Amino acid sequence: MGRKTMEKDLVKKYEYAWDKYSKEDLEKVFALSERYKKFMSKCKTERECVIELATLAEEKGYKNLEDIIKNNGSLKAGDKVYANNKDKTLALFIIGSEPIEKGMNILGAHVDSPRLDLKQNPLYEDTDLAMFETHYYGGIKKYQWVTLPLAIHGVIAKKDGTVVNVVIGEDDNDPVIGVSDLLIHLSGEQLEKKLGKAIDGEDLNILVGSMPIESKDVKDRVKRNILKLLNEKYDITEEDFVSAELEVVPAGKARDYGLDRSMVMAYGHDDRVCSYTSFEAMMDMENPKKTCVTLLVDKEEIGSVGATGMKSKFFENVVAEIMNLAGDYNELKVRRALNNSKMLSSDVSAAFDPNFPSVMEKKNSAYFGKGLVFNKYTGARGKSGSNDANAEYVAEIRNIMDKHNVSWQTSELGKVDQGGGGTIAYILAEYNMEVIDCGVALHNMHAPWEVASKADIYEAMRGYYAFLVEA
Ligand code: MN
Ligand code: MN
Repeated sequence: MGRKTMEKDLVKKYEYAWDKYSKEDLEKVFALSERYKKFMSKCKTERECVIELATLAEEKGYKNLEDIIKNNGSLKAGDKVYANNKDKTLALFIIGSEPIEKGMNILGAHVDSPRLDLKQNPLYEDTDLAMFETHYYGGIKKYQWVTLPLAIHGVIAKKDGTVVNVVIGEDDNDPVIGVSDLLIHLSGEQLEKKLGKAIDGEDLNILVGSMPIESKDVKDRVKRNILKLLNEKYDITEEDFVSAELEVVPAGKARDYGLDRSMVMAYGHDDRVCSYTSFEAMMDMENPKKTCVTLLVDKEEIGSVGATGMKSKFFENVVAEIMNLAGDYNELKVRRALNNSKMLSSDVSAAFDPNFPSVMEKKNSAYFGKGLVFNKYTGARGKSGSNDANAEYVAEIRNIMDKHNVSWQTSELGKVDQGGGGTIAYILAEYNMEVIDCGVALHNMHAPWEVASKADIYEAMRGYYAFLVEA
């Protein structure tokens, strides 16, 4: 044998997931994307996601934790249970055959996405037009949200305790609303401004009407006409906006993207692409050794705060309840269960974009079609705010992914000191559990319409399943 043939190839290659697919595999890739697009077209708020996924889980045999507690029930190995926190956070569990104290395998992701929220006193009339005031939620490039067809999704909670569900702008026969932009002919001054200052947050006002009410002897006739329409449809008055959560989001369905249909364009991939694929992986699990958990949280985009954000005690409390129902509760055992757990904390990554190569370091960037992305650390300015997974844990995860032939890659969010971002990983790591960031790479992150690769969506689902089975 010559010298050449004896040499082992020591170089790591990140291959296209596409290259390994059989015809049958490809059918599964595209079938998952069809289910995902359907979910994304329907679910555009954290509430809609949690309610839809809780309903699907019930169809798969998951029982509501509240009902089990109310009926003095108990839990045993193989049982499936979910906890719904205020329709905004969902925690799904399958009880393992091992004591929970030995640790859980946890998939985590978030279901809130950047958007425009209506203010508490949103409706006003300015120069014969009816408008909604908004306060944007999460990090957005404001100039991207003008001149788009927008829809309203959300709830109006009334004093009598009833909650009205609102979806306007998604049905083909629905009207849409939107934020205007200045015509190019008069934009001389605007075009001189820096991109970040061109559209002010306070100028993201939504045009909702232009037709006056019939009675001519009142003020604000256009605004009154809108109130009349809303009263007829939802039986609400202006004061009811005070206790409403109305989210303005891009109107329209998730679509195939690319002439080869290899990608999906949707509103809210961040982070519903990881949420949905984690959920599907969880639904495929039966009778695990370790207790398996999928945790879908709210408020990540504004710092994981509030009762429904990851910093809430909700998850810890639910773990205690579940251990109690499994007949294995004490304070120390709950601490051990959390301490001994392992987690994939999923959130989206930035995929390399040939239009903007200067912000990426090519050797440590994610690419479309190369699979589930692992980020040992995230953060900004010297990894600040990052989790930074332990090397031993990263090695264990590599081994699991390779054992299941999952396509995976590693990345950082852009060049050093170019910017950065955070996730929920560091919050769970406070229990001393092993946590690593991972997820699906996107183009246009936080834009009204984001793009993901269908191969990456499929590999994410496979990677999550492998983790639940093997970790
Ligand atoms: Mn985000
Ligand atoms: Mn995110």
